[in-house]
Amino acid sequence: MKICMISFHSCPYSSLGGNGSGGMSVYLRELTARLVDFPDVSVDLFTRAQNPICVEAKDVSPQIRVVQLKGGPEHPIDRKDLYEFIPEFSANLKDYIYRKKGEYDVVHSHYWLSGLAGRYIKNKLGMPLVHTYHTLGFMKRRALGQKEHKCRANSERQIAHMSDSIISPSTEEKESLVEEYGISPSKVKVVYPGVNPRLFYPIENRTILKKMDYRQDDFVLLYVGRIEKVKGLTNVIEALHILNEKNLPLFEKVKLIVIGGGKKDEELAENKEVSRIKRAMEQHDLKDKVVFLGSIDQALLRKYYSAADALVVPSLYESFGLVTVEALACGTPVIVSQIGKMKSIVKEGKNGFSFRPDDPVSLCQSLENVFMHRSRLWSRTSIREDVIQRFSWDNTTEDTYQIFEGLIDGRFWPKTIFQPGGSLQPV
Ligand code: UDP
Repeated sequence: MKICMISFHSCPYSSLGGNGSGGMSVYLRELTARLVDFPDVSVDLFTRAQNPICVEAKDVSPQIRVVQLKGGPEHPIDRKDLYEFIPEFSANLKDYIYRKKGEYDVVHSHYWLSGLAGRYIKNKLGMPLVHTYHTLGFMKRRALGQKEHKCRANSERQIAHMSDSIISPSTEEKESLVEEYGISPSKVKVVYPGVNPRLFYPIENRTILKKMDYRQDDFVLLYVGRIEKVKGLTNVIEALHILNEKNLPLFEKVKLIVIGGGKKDEELAENKEVSRIKRAMEQHDLKDKVVFLGSIDQALLRKYYSAADALVVPSLYESFGLVTVEALACGTPVIVSQIGKMKSIVKEGKNGFSFRPDDPVSLCQSLENVFMHRSRLWSRTSIREDVIQRFSWDNTTEDTYQIFEGLIDGRFWPKTIFQPGGSLQPV
């Protein structure tokens, strides 16, 4: 099986946690690495060139190739400005396929921008198209109350109707998609993302905190992810302020570590959301409560997850939230907003607590709950075992492979023709 994977706006093998790359890149790395374990599977992953001197095609492994094609300026630009370069990228993708006589069995596109390129290839070359949205414009708009790119809603609708199959990370998202676009529920398959237990596991020592001059009895709250308005980080600052106002004992002990947002000295300084958060910190006199570390290599994250007392995921909209399962795999409780799949990942009072989205008072209550009731929550081992049993990239890959196989087989399904006598017969 030859798979054409499209990740137009970001290369999954670039660094994580900056504003162009996060969960979707992790998803693609984990999925492609396992897909090629199936017999005779190879993946060509197409992305837009972001550097004029990069080579066109590079083998990541004998069965995985990354192909960088021109689609707009050959340097990083905000994904909001990438829409107009889709036709150029799509035409280059079609030419590449012709040139290399690359016959693909299936196209799998990721995010709406790649979905448009996938739709073009499906139209031109007649291959089955599977699409994964990762985030949905209309859901984000509802959560944030702000407009998305003017072409996004219409494009997402067209992709929903044109795709042969849609992969969704939760039943909640599936229901929203079916309702919003009026598509058949059978077209949308729910496939959960996973967690890599060899990358995320509990580590006993908390030396990482000693290096940061934290005291043994400090209550360390961790945030990991891109720093954007939709991630709701300002609500954590507001919740800390409420703890202070109420004079709650937790306030003295609490420290917040923020990981993500790009390189510490360059990208963080330019990030508007970081500036907004810092203004809120100054206003509430919370500067010494919060530290921004910038993006950290994923292979090192387990040290931070393990050392923290809890991970906080304050998102206003989240289709899945990989960081939640990563922290749990390290045995760390989570405090998450009640949205999407996260609602059911968290077992209230066992592996964490949830709170009403965009509600600092409710978030503050969950912080207090973890602080007061830590001993009543599951042990680290139980927290880990529960999550790795529920979410595995092997299952994600197996389900995805089955979807591809079903579509490819479908091409050879017997065609039905009208027979004299009125019955429909396969030929
Ligand atoms: N991540 C990372 N380093 C960072 C910040 C994030 O490796 O500094 C990874 C993190 O491990 C997770 C992903 O980026 O796998 C973020 O995924 P999530 O689904 O939580 O958020 P998204 O980016 O999809 O909104």
